[in-house]
Amino acid sequence: MDPSHAILFQSVRIGPVTAPNRFYQTPHATGLGWQRPQAGAALRGIKAEGGWGVVCTEYCSIHPTSDDSPHGFLTLWDDGDIPALALTADAIHAHGSLAGIELWHGGAHASNRMTRLPGIAPDIQPAMFHLPTTARAMDASDIKAFRGWQRDAALRAKRAGFDIVYVYAGHDYLPFQFLSGRSNTRGDAYGGSLENRARLLREMIEDTKEAVGDTCAVAVRLAVDELHGPRGITSEGEGREVIEMLAELPDLWDVNIAGALGNDSKSARFSAEGFQDRYVSFVKSLTTKPVVAVGRFTSPETMVAQIKRGVQDFIGAARPSIADPFLPLKIREGRADEIRECIGCNMCRAANNEAVHLRCTQNPTIAEEWRQGWHPERIAMLPKRDKVLVVGAGPAGLEAALALGRRGAEVTLAERGGALGGRILRESTLPGLSTWIRVRDWRAHMIGKLDTVQVYPGSEMTVGDIADFGADHVVLATGSRWRRDGIGVSGMQALDLPKALTPDDIFSGAAVNGPVVIYDDEHYFMAGALAERLRGLGHAVCYVTSHATASSWTALTDEQGFVQAKLLQAGVEIVASHLLVGHEVGAVRLACGYTGREVERACGTLITVTGRLPVDDLYAPLLASGVAVSRVGDCLQPSSIADAVYSAHRFVRGFGGPIEPVLRREKPPLKGML
Ligand code: ADP
Ligand code: SF4
Repeated sequence: MDPSHAILFQSVRIGPVTAPNRFYQTPHATGLGWQRPQAGAALRGIKAEGGWGVVCTEYCSIHPTSDDSPHGFLTLWDDGDIPALALTADAIHAHGSLAGIELWHGGAHASNRMTRLPGIAPDIQPAMFHLPTTARAMDASDIKAFRGWQRDAALRAKRAGFDIVYVYAGHDYLPFQFLSGRSNTRGDAYGGSLENRARLLREMIEDTKEAVGDTCAVAVRLAVDELHGPRGITSEGEGREVIEMLAELPDLWDVNIAGALGNDSKSARFSAEGFQDRYVSFVKSLTTKPVVAVGRFTSPETMVAQIKRGVQDFIGAARPSIADPFLPLKIREGRADEIRECIGCNMCRAANNEAVHLRCTQNPTIAEEWRQGWHPERIAMLPKRDKVLVVGAGPAGLEAALALGRRGAEVTLAERGGALGGRILRESTLPGLSTWIRVRDWRAHMIGKLDTVQVYPGSEMTVGDIADFGADHVVLATGSRWRRDGIGVSGMQALDLPKALTPDDIFSGAAVNGPVVIYDDEHYFMAGALAERLRGLGHAVCYVTSHATASSWTALTDEQGFVQAKLLQAGVEIVASHLLVGHEVGAVRLACGYTGREVERACGTLITVTGRLPVDDLYAPLLASGVAVSRVGDCLQPSSIADAVYSAHRFVRGFGGPIEPVLRREKPPLKGML
């Protein structure tokens, strides 16, 4: 280990328990929840194996009035939930780490779509879950019952084996709804002054400590700023006062910013490493209790500085621990160069928002630990040293070459371009996306350590070249190209657009003359980022989308609001809910997506961002000539970088095995039903 990193491996006392080091995996969603306890346990166990001294669960509901369906959340509603959660605590303990559990009540934020119970909140208020319903105000008996639920859940968490039990007052959830004057206008002892609004939080901490504090640490997760200015909790105002008021009461402060999860888990496009420091760094000066905070930390130097500057006692991490579950161990073993750094793309957040298994652009094995038995650091050797040619060194080709090399194949990676990276090379030049180059950098670096992989940039491969090469197997990772016919998510009819440009043309340096019209019928980052870039270069830009909002899919990566604000602030004109129907000299014709009414917009350059087509011209001739060939990544299915990496990784895991891998599912016992 680099001696300057030793401070990260000091043990830290948290109330009655001791963390073996300062690496603290803060609670994060996995999409696995109460329905997939074995998968959840395996995921957390891997984090502990990778060296995280504290590993926490995702949010765990304390009562059926807090149901986040359809999203994956845990439950401790009755004793029957204990065995499932004990699996997770045991998996974490197996590696000597502390197990934390984030007890949760969403209040007005819970959907209750599964339980169909009325939502509860400090005041009667519209539900915060985009539902046309209302949460009812809690009366004194509700508050008493609520305190009992937290207490009972804490006792169950202790029985399940957890070492750290949370009181969760962040992210707009119930205790935070009481704290914030924006959502609490009660006239009783739980409303009005900050002391009154913090009463429930104080009682929850006291109740939880009394219930389990003899053996479990009680942590408070508090949003110290909800980014609503003086109307809400701020780190200079009431956020600070709450910490002052309750400073020594919990055993640990886990502090962050809120308003919405998008603020706390801000993508790299809109925030830098350590972006929460300015809000949370005051906390340590007000308490002797250990403090943990997040900020997408991936560099050991930044981590050491966090401790030395007294910002926090732990290195809190959710996304960096997803991208590389073995980050702590790599630092401890002096292999910091091998850290697979989070790129801040928020594909993990998208999985949560879509209510599916967690996925990660950098780590294809996340949430596959139990389902497919994948380990982030281990992969089975092949029975023999197959000679494999990988064509194309974008994310898919790089991942395929690396994973095949680790399996012991004799790999040749041929890339047409002079540099490795494929689409990453281009996309990482867009505003805010420079961290995406880490997808290439990490893989290229790790390939460089293997003597099983030879890399040849500047090598365009033809069918003849490939056939002559004589590999046992050929993997095509030749990517995709943007469509030129206007066919996208909404526009299914081909258009005649001979003069229009695509993102491929822009990246190749095609000349752009204003006014620029960018037509988005894809809805992810590309069109919005191009609009931002071209506006930054001084062009008049009109961004047209077939959807109702700019870059609408980025709502799932928690970025949409930031994207739209940025475009508006930059002076990009946004035309929503319109389809492109024609392109003539100097103008485009657009049709309203609802009425069909047509309008014209002046246009010097039209850029269409619609569908993509696979670049797979080599595939059919190779198959026909009897070459053993497979496709991975965008040349099989144009999609996200995360999907390209996953596709390649999945191919390599299955290489030489059964064609269709088995996806294990957790099925409830059907005793007596058959
Ligand atoms: P993916 O996301 O699936 O990895 P990319 O588009 O990022 O796809 O990468 C595909 C890579 O394949 C590009 O770098 C491209 O230059 C390369 N490529 C495409 N065709 C050939 C070929 N015939 N020979 C070598 N490299 C190729
Ligand atoms: Fe980081 Fe992206 Fe992976 Fe999330 S999906 S952990 S943001 S690399």
